[in-house]
Amino acid sequence: MIQDIFPYRLDHAFRDREPEPEDCFFSFRGGEVLLRVSENGSRRIPVFHDLGMPFAEVRRLAVFLFCMDGVTVYLLRQQGDVLPEREGMQYLPLRELDGILPGWAYFAGATALHLAGWYERNVYCGRCGGVRTQDRGRRSLSCPDCGDTVYPAIAPVVMVAVTDGDRLLMTKYGDRPLPQWVLVSGFVEAGETLEEAAEREVYEETGIRIRGLKYFGSQPWGFSGSVIAGYTAELDGSDQLHIDTGELSAAAWQPQAGERSVIIGGGLGIPPLLELSKRIPGEAEVFLGYADAPFMDGDFRGHGRKVHVASQTGNGGFRGTVLELVETIAPFADRVYACGPRQMLQAVAEWAERQGIPVQVSMEERMACGMPRWRS
Ligand SMILES: [Zn+2]
Repeated sequence: MIQDIFPYRLDHAFRDREPEPEDCFFSFRGGEVLLRVSENGSRRIPVFHDLGMPFAEVRRLAVFLFCMDGVTVYLLRQQGDVLPEREGMQYLPLRELDGILPGWAYFAGATALHLAGWYERNVYCGRCGGVRTQDRGRRSLSCPDCGDTVYPAIAPVVMVAVTDGDRLLMTKYGDRPLPQWVLVSGFVEAGETLEEAAEREVYEETGIRIRGLKYFGSQPWGFSGSVIAGYTAELDGSDQLHIDTGELSAAAWQPQAGERSVIIGGGLGIPPLLELSKRIPGEAEVFLGYADAPFMDGDFRGHGRKVHVASQTGNGGFRGTVLELVETIAPFADRVYACGPRQMLQAVAEWAERQGIPVQVSMEERMACGMPRWRS
């Protein structure tokens, strides 16, 4: 989970401390974070010294956030404006830096983004319109005019893994650009327990009842200003799903780990996949990409596989690349097998990595010897 950054440790304790030139800082532009980008392309959290800004100005704009393994981390707030990019520094979308930044830096960024949003929304007092000031010794903002005090807002979310035997209930959002399958989740209502929220969310979104609700664990999720409480539960009664189309685009009972594969083939990479498709156990969905007329797709269907076809001409169904088709359908998979041109394999490997699915690819070039060699 995002907070698993051992041996690093995020120390949340608030400190009244003046910034120093070597302290780290975060600055945001929407969901983008300002990072120091070196000539070799590596990225790191900047320190104040990198800014080349008068230090009196830094002191005026910096807000203490937390310490990470003894390193003090600040937020740099440019009131009503965004700190401009400067040489060697660039704004990058934080969500896309998972796996690129070290885990501790990604977690620190998500937590900083959460706090940055709270500070931004609380510049003015919601009661009288006065300008709030930072309290000493604690993370709170007070209004000097009416005395109103606010603390960081954290919205609790529940997430539930519902099982029925060896099947797991998975859903896809309808209102967000998130193509992958996810567990049922939702915000907790005022006056509701976490357990009640879990039961309500599962019922509202998918129309089923649950029993045996058990707490699993939690994780902070700064991107939505949340803390997520995870639960497991079993199906109680009918497994018939009734989807809330206002929130979801799909819900389905999916086989649990290790049982479902996706096979992706392009051009001359398709023939060697047929034997693989016959041999692998469990369910497998097949995606085939062609320049023009499809071939062998019937052979895959012949042994009971569900087959999707893409071609550059639209011949056979989808017009576009096989990966565009995969991204459109967003299949549920525990494992991906792919064979085809190098460029396609590169794109498939990147897609699978984003989805967190293990992938095995085989290069067309290696096929010449008649011995396809699989590699992860
Ligand atoms: Zn006020």
